[in-house]
Amino acid sequence: MDDGCGIALAGLDIAHHSIGVRERLMRRRALVQWGLAAAAGATAGVLARHARAGRSDTADVLVVGAGLAGLACAQELRRKGHRVIVLEARDRLGGRVWTDTSLGLPVDLGASWLHGLADNPLTDLARDRLGLRLVTTDYSDCITFAVDGRPWTSARSQAAEAWIEAVVDRLERSGADQPLAKALPVDLSSDQRLALTVTVEHELGADLDEIKAGMPMGDGNRELRGGDALLPSGFGPLLEALSRGLDVRLGQRVQLIRQERGASGAGVMVETDRGRFRAARLCCTLPLGVLKKGFVQFDPPLPPAKQQAIERIGMGVLNKLYLIFPHVFWGNQTLIRLQHPSSGLWAEWLNLAPLLGHPVLLGFNAGGVARRLERWSDAEIVASALNALRRCYGTAAVPEPSSYRCSRWGADPYSCGSYSFPRPGMTDHDRRNLAAAWGMLVFAGEATSSDFPATLQGAYTTGIQAAAQLLR
Ligand SMILES: Cc1cc2nc3c(=O)[nH]c(=O)nc-3n(C[C@H](O)[C@H](O)[C@H](O)COP(=O)(O)OP(=O)(O)OC[C@H]3O[C@@H](n4cnc5c(N)ncnc54)[C@H](O)[C@@H]3O)c2cc1C
Repeated sequence: MDDGCGIALAGLDIAHHSIGVRERLMRRRALVQWGLAAAAGATAGVLARHARAGRSDTADVLVVGAGLAGLACAQELRRKGHRVIVLEARDRLGGRVWTDTSLGLPVDLGASWLHGLADNPLTDLARDRLGLRLVTTDYSDCITFAVDGRPWTSARSQAAEAWIEAVVDRLERSGADQPLAKALPVDLSSDQRLALTVTVEHELGADLDEIKAGMPMGDGNRELRGGDALLPSGFGPLLEALSRGLDVRLGQRVQLIRQERGASGAGVMVETDRGRFRAARLCCTLPLGVLKKGFVQFDPPLPPAKQQAIERIGMGVLNKLYLIFPHVFWGNQTLIRLQHPSSGLWAEWLNLAPLLGHPVLLGFNAGGVARRLERWSDAEIVASALNALRRCYGTAAVPEPSSYRCSRWGADPYSCGSYSFPRPGMTDHDRRNLAAAWGMLVFAGEATSSDFPATLQGAYTTGIQAAAQLLR
């Protein structure tokens, strides 16, 4: 059904993200974050429109957060004729969807892949409604370099892949509620360690001792079908479409969410650093990391089951580094994996040259390694990445990059991490408890999704579901 803005938001189904090793793991939930383009003028246009938007501080529904979940919820409510104000702390839309164009190319510092294209409602929106180009990713097109800089043979790659598949299968069947590190052999080879880094740690954004052993590929209830794709245009046009016609107030850092009952009835009051807003109901899409930090006060306080869920679900970190070089020196494989002598540092790279038509490499770090690097200066991060690349391609072959861009999602006060993951002690109930409506509040966002947590479609679907709850 068209909403009058040219996009359909109702009746859509969903799907997931990742950089995985093999198609099979990917389909299950493999990981990958891919960066890409965005319509350069889109965000500026949106901001200008929002600046002109109505200035009333009351609405039928307040939505906290202008990420995918918040925009989906607000759009659905607006479509049904409700007055909605979206309160967003940043000076931009999208939250963990962030297409940066400062390098002269659109690069996604947050999410990049549409996962599980077959069931992903964003596939329909991006490809069919907005006419955006989707380019599928072949994860088997990969080269791995040993510590001494020599490429793995195909037999060596196959052995590592067979091992990781068997381990993941065994652990998933076991459902073991202990740290993954404890469920693995103590004498892991460096090849096995690399397979775990790129398949599990990058997927979940967490270290082996933080992840629940029985859920090595995450805890989503639904399988990802249909492969994964990148959008050469980036997610800018999608955000533009989802925000069309909405009253989004940027630069409003929510500090307090209060449920009130007065003579005139029940309602919600929200205090930001710049003012107060009131509505009958509220949809909260604050990221799990922000809820964990307690940056926003709830009055009355959140119920114990929700607080327990916030504590038990993990918040992982995955960071990206884009390097733009004067020319391509790395061949034409899609994925490049590097063995490090002692850690998972710079274990995986994505070759963006075919997609962007420019010599761009995208490097990933996850978990403790990513958190450690966030404390480094940009220059130190780039130097460390170049060292890793030069170990494999040779010092002379790797020129200085002409520009770079890196993310620091762990330190970002409006996300406090990249996406949620299952920690030991977490149960199936936790995401449901996090999602449960409470008083005049409903909750959405990737961490509240039991089907597709940690993904775009998880965020989007929970936003649509929250709107349905509010409309009931
Ligand atoms: C590096 C990285 C790579 C990823 N790769 C992929 C991928 O390839 N595919 C995929 O499907 N998913 C991927 N993801 C996950 C995906 O980006 C998220 O699941 C999704 O964007 C979350 O949307 P959301 O609406 O739940 O949260 P958010 O996008 O975080 O939205 C919440 C909003 O709340 C705002 N906010 C926070 N605090 C306040 C406050 N106090 N007051 C007001 N507003 C506030 C935030 O600024 C934000 O805009 C990736 C994420 C990261 C970080």
